[in-house]
Amino acid sequence: MIYENAPAKINLTLDTLYKRNDGYHEVEMIMTTVDLYDRLTFEKRKDKKIVLKIEHRYVPNDHRNLAYKAAELMIERYNIKCGVTITLDKTIPIAAGLAGGSSDAAATFRGMNKLFELNLSLETLAELSSEIGSDIPFCIYGRTTLCTGRGEVLEHLPKPPSCWVILAKPEISVSTQEVYSALDLSQAHEQIENEKCRRAIEAGDYLEMISALGNRLEAVTIEMHPVIQMLKETMMKAGADAAMMSGSGPTVYGLAAKERQAKSVVNALKGCCKEVYMVRMLG
Ligand code: ATP
Repeated sequence: MIYENAPAKINLTLDTLYKRNDGYHEVEMIMTTVDLYDRLTFEKRKDKKIVLKIEHRYVPNDHRNLAYKAAELMIERYNIKCGVTITLDKTIPIAAGLAGGSSDAAATFRGMNKLFELNLSLETLAELSSEIGSDIPFCIYGRTTLCTGRGEVLEHLPKPPSCWVILAKPEISVSTQEVYSALDLSQAHEQIENEKCRRAIEAGDYLEMISALGNRLEAVTIEMHPVIQMLKETMMKAGADAAMMSGSGPTVYGLAAKERQAKSVVNALKGCCKEVYMVRMLG
C-alpha cells in the first residue's frame, strides 16, 4: 500500500494578463502549499478497475473526480495491466480556491508512479498532469512557484519566510469558471506585484512579501460574495499582518508572524466563520 499527502495551496499573488485563443487566461501567480492535507492510499487490484473510495456528499467518485482522471491517464499512458483502489480522505474544503482537487490528482500521479514502480521523474509527471488540469503541475512538486502560461509553466522559488496562515472558508462555494466569466480585463485595477513578491521571497523578507500580496480575482469574487471583504477586515482588525483571497475564492487567508497573533485572528473569526484552520506554510 502506498500513502500520499495532498496539501492545499494558497496564492500569494494572482494576475490575469489576457484571454488566449484557446479560451484559457494567461496567468502569472505565485503559489505555495500549507499543512492542510487530504490523505490518499493506493492499492493494486487484480481486475482492471479504478475504484475510488470517498465518503463526501459533494465529491464524485467517478471520472468527474480529478484523482480518478489522473489514475485513468497513468494506466492508459503507461499500459498498466492491473487496476487500483484509491482511498481519498478529504480535509481540504471543496471549491474553496485551495486546489483540493488538483492536489488530489497530483498525489495520484505520484502514488501510481510508486505503486507500479514506474520511476518517472516529477518533471515527466508534471508534463503529463497538465493534460487534465492547469494547477496540477504545481501540485506535483508542492513547492513555492511562480506559475505562468495557463498555470503549468513553473519556476520554483525558495521557501517563503516562515509564518502562520489562518484560513477562513465561508459557507459558500465558488465556481472558478463563473469568476473568470465575470472578470472584465479592460477595467482599471490594482497592479499585481509578482516581481516584487518574488524578490521578497528570494531575499527572505517577510514584510516586503506581505506588502506585495495581490489577487486580480479578489474584487470580482467580493462583488458576488461580500462576506469575503468582511472576513478580510475581521482578520486585519484582529492583528493579521495581511489578508487576501486565495485563487478564485472564497477562502480568505491571513498571515501572522507570531503564534499569539495568529490565535487572536482565529478567535476573532469564531463568531463569523465556521470553517477556520490555523496552519503553517510548507513552501
Ligand atoms: P482551484 O483552487 O484549483 O480552483 P478549488 O479548491 O476551488 O480548486 P476543488 O475543491 O478542487 O476546487 O473542486 C472544484 C470542483 O471539482 C468540486 O465542485 C468537485 O465536484 C470537483 N472535484 C473533482 N475532483 C475533486 C476532488 N478530488 N476533490 C474535490 N473536488 C473535486
